[in-house]
Amino acid sequence: MRAVVYESLNTMVVTDRPIPQPGPQQVLIETAAVGICGTDLHVLQGEFEGTVFPIVPGHEATGRVLAVGPGVEGITPGDHVVVAPATSCNKCELCLMGKGNLCRKWAGIGMVDTDGASQQQFLAAAELVYTLKPETDLNHAALIEPIACVIHAYDLIDTKLGQHYLVYGSGTIGLLVAQLALRVGAASVTVVDISKDRLKTAQELGFTELFTSADDSSRDEWDIVIDCTGVIKAIEDGIPRVKPGGTFLHFGVAPVEARAQYSPFRLFRDEITILGTMAVHQSFGRAVEMFEAGAINPVPLISHSFAIEDYDKALEMFQAGTGRKVQIRPNDTQSRVLLDLSPAGA
Ligand SMILES: [Zn+2]
Ligand SMILES: [Zn+2]
Repeated sequence: MRAVVYESLNTMVVTDRPIPQPGPQQVLIETAAVGICGTDLHVLQGEFEGTVFPIVPGHEATGRVLAVGPGVEGITPGDHVVVAPATSCNKCELCLMGKGNLCRKWAGIGMVDTDGASQQQFLAAAELVYTLKPETDLNHAALIEPIACVIHAYDLIDTKLGQHYLVYGSGTIGLLVAQLALRVGAASVTVVDISKDRLKTAQELGFTELFTSADDSSRDEWDIVIDCTGVIKAIEDGIPRVKPGGTFLHFGVAPVEARAQYSPFRLFRDEITILGTMAVHQSFGRAVEMFEAGAINPVPLISHSFAIEDYDKALEMFQAGTGRKVQIRPNDTQSRVLLDLSPAGA
């Protein structure tokens, strides 16, 4: 079978690999779709904590079960599944406190030392495999992993009905955050992105408060401000716009060395809460439920799928930011344009 392998720092090949056999508590899956996200690039560029090369990337994955190893219960060949990426040690203080996503030995498939899903078939630990309804679209369902990250973020916010939300970034995460804001009771959702093209996706999803700068909004305070860019300019723009008693959430991943400025006095005087959120935490099963309940519209989010031989083109498009969500479909021999993003088509 064909597999994408990150061989070493910044070196990637598509190569033949033997089909793996499922061991105890393992499931062999024929890959349907794998989303590409910034983490894949960080892994390739050696910016991800703990990566051991060579590694097969890919952690936003769905597929069909081909075989199960000894001891696997409740999963049978033919099942449509989505795979949660992360494991933690289950032994350290953080794990025992129920904060496994903060474990120092946190590991995700395709990120640290376990191969991911950018190959025609892949192995997953049975405890990370979630069964989908047979009618659930396996390509769209590759968004469940980022949805699980967003649900964890909402777990951290003290949400109330009737609040106003400001979201920085109109990419996949920003638009999942915006769509789920409606589910946690937002009175309004404002989306800011410096790119008019990216705001178009938000418009297709039905959002109307869309700006290239929050200055252009008629509102000047929001209960909840969520940064999905990791860009310092956006973060420093957003924190002063939090209403007294409100919350700012860091979702976007800023560079490790980056520093942002804010007024500690303002945080004191107005009791502003600043939060961080890290990956998925006890939220994957709920992400499956919310996705299958139709809580998000996946169609405008996924713009291109690539055959495995074109993996490098998918990464290039991701880096150039010319697509929306870009996927690898390792068992599809064709690369496909799913949405016409040309000015005439959009
Ligand atoms: Zn990801
Ligand atoms: Zn741990």
